Amino acid sequence: MLFTDEHDLLRQSLRTLIAREITPHVEEWEEARIFPAHEVFKKLGKEGFLGLTKPTEYGGAGLDYSYAVAMAEELGHIPAGGVGLAIGVQTDMCTPARARFGSEELKQEFLAPSIAGDLVGCIGVSETGAGSDVAGLKTYARKDGDDYVISGSKMWITNGIQADWMCCLVNTSDDKPHKNKSLVIVPMNTKGVERAKKLHKLGMWSSDTAQIFFDEVRVPQRYRVGPEGAGFMLQMLQFQEERMWGAANAITAMEDAIAETIKYTRQRSTFGRPLIDNQVVHFRLAELATEVECLKSLVYRACEEFISGKDVTRLASMAKLKAGRLAREVSDGCLQFWGGMGYMWESKISRMYRDSRLASIGGGADEIMLGIICKLDGTLPGKAS
Ligand SMILES: Cc1cc2nc3c(=O)[nH]c(=O)nc-3n(C[C@H](O)[C@H](O)[C@H](O)COP(=O)(O)OP(=O)(O)OC[C@H]3O[C@@H](n4cnc5c(N)ncnc54)[C@H](O)[C@@H]3O)c2cc1C
Repeated sequence: MLFTDEHDLLRQSLRTLIAREITPHVEEWEEARIFPAHEVFKKLGKEGFLGLTKPTEYGGAGLDYSYAVAMAEELGHIPAGGVGLAIGVQTDMCTPARARFGSEELKQEFLAPSIAGDLVGCIGVSETGAGSDVAGLKTYARKDGDDYVISGSKMWITNGIQADWMCCLVNTSDDKPHKNKSLVIVPMNTKGVERAKKLHKLGMWSSDTAQIFFDEVRVPQRYRVGPEGAGFMLQMLQFQEERMWGAANAITAMEDAIAETIKYTRQRSTFGRPLIDNQVVHFRLAELATEVECLKSLVYRACEEFISGKDVTRLASMAKLKAGRLAREVSDGCLQFWGGMGYMWESKISRMYRDSRLASIGGGADEIMLGIICKLDGTLPGKAS
């Protein structure tokens, strides 16, 4: 995948916006364990960053997915992973299904204002009893006249405290688990929606993560995305973007961790010479940099195939798996060379260590990615051809 001057231009203007509007505030937001999503999204929306790949009719730029990858990479440079994550939820996790399968009304009412940065969205799939096992979720939407009446709960919802709407996966019938689900847009100010708790996490502190309860929440059936019963499939499709985005976003965070570690080990001396002059140190950093380049190639290939209209489930799952594992390896490997400084809460590398741990869990854990790859490769028990 070759990035063009247009990609560079986009990166440059996003970098400027980040330096002006985000980086100066991240310490304060980390401390507060939340960042002002409406304020920041409005600024991003004004400059067109919330709809790069969305249709132009709704305020998007109509660009191909390589621009989303470039943006995800650029967001990875923010010195607090939570802010980029929250933005990624808006651009690549809670809006793709709607852009593709939503009605004109849903696009006008929720998509266009989200692209403009006037509304903040979230994606509600996981529940306390159903994270990896998406098919096992229990939140139920029963029909009543023209409405759905939703009861249940969602867990670990990024942007959940501040969101104006949720793209919510619910059961809409008692059919089989893969055929009984629908994606429904739930305005978060509807009666019966309770943002029960802002969750305290290991990392990603700038982003708010919530537990949400639904008690007889009434929304019109026309707020459903796509056909009834297609929700599981639509969410699986929507996960492709989420997983490619997550892998692309991890690349630059890792590159920064390695670059910072090179800088640190150059100026830190032990036994009369710079730490980096020990072969074990510079070889290890070279090894990690090589691994990151491999991940990059995988992400770019998945992106290229996605742009050409191919099903990238296998490549996107591999990229997500590799990104999660590598983020753990890079953050741990680099932190080691920072010694006691690395173990300090305020060091950059310790934040990267905490933030990056999510990549192997959120959006489908490593083992779920392995399961998908095995399923596609026909290596699951009893599936040999
Ligand atoms: C900070 C944060 C933000 C999040 N944001 C969102 C969000 O915005 N929206 C949303 O819907 N969800 C969100 N999630 C939820 C996330 O997607 C789930 O936590 C994740 O899918 C794992 O589900 P679980 O926690 O229920 O783990 P479980 O399903 O209980 O699994 C626990 C562990 O068991 C292992 N495992 C699971 N199944 C298998 C298997 N079949 N074989 C082998 N091992 C297995 C995995 O290692 C897994 O990590 C977020 C989570 C976090 C921590």
